[in-house]
Amino acid sequence: MKYCSTRGGVADLSFVDALLMGLAPDGGLLVPAELPDVTPQLEKWRELNFIGLAQEVIALFVDDIDRPTLDKLIAEAYETFDHPDVIGWQQLDDVDVMELYHGPTLAFKDVALQLLGRLFEHVLGERHQHLNILGATSGDTGGAAIAGVRGQDNIDIFILFPEGKVSPLQELQMTTVADANVHCVAVQGSFDDCQSLMKEIFADLEFKAEYQLGAVNSVNWARVMAQIVYYGYASLRYERAPAFCVPTGNFGNVFAAFLAKEMGFPIDRLLVATNENDILARFFATGEYARGDVHFTLSPAMDIQVASNFERFLYYYFDKDTARLKEFMHAFSSRGHASLDGPPDARFMQATAVNTEQTLTAVKDVHEQFNYVLDPHTAVGYAAAQVFKRSVDAPLVCVATAHPAKFPDAVKQAAANAPANHPTLDALVGLPARKEVIPATVEAVKKVITEHARGFSA
Ligand SMILES: *Cc1c(COP(=O)(O)O)cnc(C)c1O
Repeated sequence: MKYCSTRGGVADLSFVDALLMGLAPDGGLLVPAELPDVTPQLEKWRELNFIGLAQEVIALFVDDIDRPTLDKLIAEAYETFDHPDVIGWQQLDDVDVMELYHGPTLAFKDVALQLLGRLFEHVLGERHQHLNILGATSGDTGGAAIAGVRGQDNIDIFILFPEGKVSPLQELQMTTVADANVHCVAVQGSFDDCQSLMKEIFADLEFKAEYQLGAVNSVNWARVMAQIVYYGYASLRYERAPAFCVPTGNFGNVFAAFLAKEMGFPIDRLLVATNENDILARFFATGEYARGDVHFTLSPAMDIQVASNFERFLYYYFDKDTARLKEFMHAFSSRGHASLDGPPDARFMQATAVNTEQTLTAVKDVHEQFNYVLDPHTAVGYAAAQVFKRSVDAPLVCVATAHPAKFPDAVKQAAANAPANHPTLDALVGLPARKEVIPATVEAVKKVITEHARGFSA
């Protein structure tokens, strides 16, 4: 499989090139040159367990890692999950919950980042290279990225987060990791400051090349690829093609579902659930993509206005017309809004926004009725599914993106007596923690990197 940029400036990359490149130099995102058609395999694949299907699906996208090595990396990545078949299931009346949070940091991001860390380790080892990963997090990504690469010889990881503004448990998931290659950097500023610092440093191509900086955010193709698997796997459990309702922030998770459907997995339709940051819900209703102000909600991982993976979706929506896509993205970045001629065809996706009250009600109702606890992100998806289910004549699957114990305050606010604990998180309290607190300047971030980056003799 070869990879190209959504903006047409890069083509013919191998998988490993795409893995290491992250964002394309023309500002676009990397996508496979063609999507494989899985329909001839489906009957055979119904018999596989999760790891078996992951090995088959991922091999379709990887042309330059040999199959036995790839199979081993995939098996090792998913053996870290505490569910015997990696993902869990819960049946609630008329919706089924697909639990993606059984990995080491209890968020669905582990599915991609456990594999990404192992892919990096393998590729860097073969090439005798060292990589310094720089990432910014408002919560879940940092912990999952650290868990994916901790202890690796060829990687140092630097995670920026806003000092005092990530939840205490999420901070502990990062700062209590004792491995010497992990560097937690608390920036005296907001999450937006962290993200712009990161972007500025990646834009300094000289610094980026000298320190071999790499990215783990969801622009990395390998993350999307790993997420395709669970939609395919879930679709094969049903006799009739299911619909998926996906709580959405950066559009990475639901975009993977879109690709699974395009590849021929039996999927009825895709339902996008947003919180009050409803840019995507407005887009699917009207065709207008317009930036708004960021609202802070109970589902912080979805407090995003501009979803980076949306560009990949538009690339397919525009039938790979890179000129039309560039025009749309340029209009959006210069004016803050861009439009299609009308609402997008509902066969692609439908979307709805869920407010705080509906989110709390979902947690409370599900706890009362089923004695089951939703995290606030999953609750957004569940509340949206209640809206959609009247018009959907297919099994309805709600995607659970985090374990409720990661967000105990929101859970308790909705249902005071709902349990919101997990032994993995309980064990973090009281452990020694490390972080470096710095001012929100490019110089300060660069200083941390130059002081700690290994693999350089300069
Ligand atoms: C990251 C995250 C999301 C949003 O996923 P996207 O791929 O950005 O749409 C939703 N829920 C949780 C718990 C997350 O960590």
